Amino acid sequence: MENDAASLIRNANNLDPNLARVFLPFALGNPRYLKGFFSLLGTHIKAKRRREEMLRSGLVVPPFLIISITSRCNLNCAGCFAKAAGTVSGSTGSRKELSFGQWKSIIRQAKDLGIFGFVIAGGEPFMHSGLLELCGGFKDSLFIILTNGTLLKEQQYEKLKSLSNIAALVSIEGGREINDERRGKGVHDKAMEALLRLNACGTLTGISVTITRDNYLFWMDEKNIDELAGKGVRIGAFMEYIPTTPGNGHASNDHGLMLDEHERSEFRARMLEYRNKKPIYIIHSPGDEEYFGGCVSAGRGFAHVTPSGDLTPCPVSNIATHNLARTKLSTALGGRLFKEIRKNDHLLESDGMPCALFAHPEEVNELARSVGAYRTGS
Ligand code: SF4
Repeated sequence: MENDAASLIRNANNLDPNLARVFLPFALGNPRYLKGFFSLLGTHIKAKRRREEMLRSGLVVPPFLIISITSRCNLNCAGCFAKAAGTVSGSTGSRKELSFGQWKSIIRQAKDLGIFGFVIAGGEPFMHSGLLELCGGFKDSLFIILTNGTLLKEQQYEKLKSLSNIAALVSIEGGREINDERRGKGVHDKAMEALLRLNACGTLTGISVTITRDNYLFWMDEKNIDELAGKGVRIGAFMEYIPTTPGNGHASNDHGLMLDEHERSEFRARMLEYRNKKPIYIIHSPGDEEYFGGCVSAGRGFAHVTPSGDLTPCPVSNIATHNLARTKLSTALGGRLFKEIRKNDHLLESDGMPCALFAHPEEVNELARSVGAYRTGS
């Protein structure tokens, strides 16, 4: 046990010293996660070797796959990027979504190729009745669930008590007023209650924040971060708002919500400060891409699957050449779309915008046409 714990710390520190600093105290306080972290560490090491093997055979496999498991959502947030990208179609959903069996097959294929973790998005993932059963079926893979926190029921909290491969990130924009302004009346209180319940059932809990000009100062005030750390939050994912217009990727008129260069560098500095001292694991974009040489879409860090199975470069970019209901994941990952995006280095630079692909709409459209890509969603 001592040696295992030591190897866990050593490996975590090799990855990122903040991993051990933030998650080991959590795992020691929630023993089921200690066992879970060992199994995840084993998967991480095996998956990395497998990706290196695949790279030698000419296939770039990302460590993460983002799965938009449903197009249904019970909320109607202003500026929802998933709606703008055509992934979300309201509460009832309109497009034929992949079946439980098809998602299981995609996750199995992904694991076989060396994909270590899965980010479950949507729509609202907890509108998918098989969500936790799906995650529970792959106990040695990491699942990060992005939820609005308003639909969790007793039986789901009970189910979560038996799982140690899940991190649940609840969307919170800021205080009640800022949050409900964007997400709807009463959503803040429900989301905060979900945070407390998730923490109470010992689930690795976090927040997912869309940073705009309206809320960035709230998050730069460290007392707000400390308050959430006190409520058991261990992960903070801060993604800057990307203004999009449905379908075409061209700039919409809500550019005013984007941070300017000065605000962006101020905010980045504060995130790096928090990263090294707060008991919360900070993920920040745009910013962390710099550790990987630029945008990590198109298989470099992740790829994205829409509710109906299209493989896109990322959740914001609604272009694809393959659908996983008809094609193997390895074939889709090996397609020209991803290769061409990765080949064009300048397409991976964000040029002062919160998203690299968003910053080059004409080139992305031209590239999409040249490889015969189609628009997903509509
Ligand atoms: S909860 Fe998420 S998917 Fe649903 S409307 Fe809001 S931002 Fe969009």
